Amino acid sequence: MKINPLRRVAQILAKIISIYLILSIFVAKISSAMSSQIAYALHRESNKVIHVSEAKRGLLCNCQCIECGSELEAIKGDVREHHFRHVESKTCTGETAIHLFAKQIIADSTIIRIPGRKLVYSNVRMEKWLDTKRPDITVSIGEEDVHFEIRVSNAVKENKKQFYYSGRYKCVEIDLSDKEIWTLPLEELKEIILEKSYNKNIIYWEEEIEPLPKEGESFFEIFLKVSAFLILIVLSLKLFMPNKRH
Ligand SMILES: [Zn+2]
Repeated sequence: MKINPLRRVAQILAKIISIYLILSIFVAKISSAMSSQIAYALHRESNKVIHVSEAKRGLLCNCQCIECGSELEAIKGDVREHHFRHVESKTCTGETAIHLFAKQIIADSTIIRIPGRKLVYSNVRMEKWLDTKRPDITVSIGEEDVHFEIRVSNAVKENKKQFYYSGRYKCVEIDLSDKEIWTLPLEELKEIILEKSYNKNIIYWEEEIEPLPKEGESFFEIFLKVSAFLILIVLSLKLFMPNKRH
């Protein structure tokens, strides 16, 4: 019996598509498992947030999820990166845990760096209503309030940006959406939140924020420009002067 060549092609295509589908489901499962890695938990005995590196293995860690409050066990094997895992609940990803924890880090400090400046603040308030919106965190700098939005999964929405802008409320977004940040040890996480400015975006700030002056750059720039000019002159002389060789 002869098989129609078209039908043969269709069969091969169907096989390729099904293999592709199976592979993509597999990859999606792996990446979702990776994305739900939880590095921080609330230690019940001390009532403090701890990194997995400080926890005892398994249920001995005596920890609960910062987000949903259910029991966690510390997975500290040799193969995968150490992390906490829910003992029962499967739906909680722990994503807001890093959000909550970041707010706590700001609340426990008094200094934060933003693009172009360092802010010294007091009177930290969390999720406090401001007209019709609730900034993640609000601090006082002298008489003035400054608001922070912490980005973990979603960026600040356009209408919220507009709200800060039209109300002339000073606001800075702290971008923690890079999942690698979520598993960093406490000191590094603190450094990223409080001392770095590359991951902070100004949403509204009434005065222009000028970049910090860099010393010595102007001299170097002049030197570069002069050398480039000289090289250009030498090159054009070589190219356009008549060859005087006899
Ligand atoms: Zn949870």
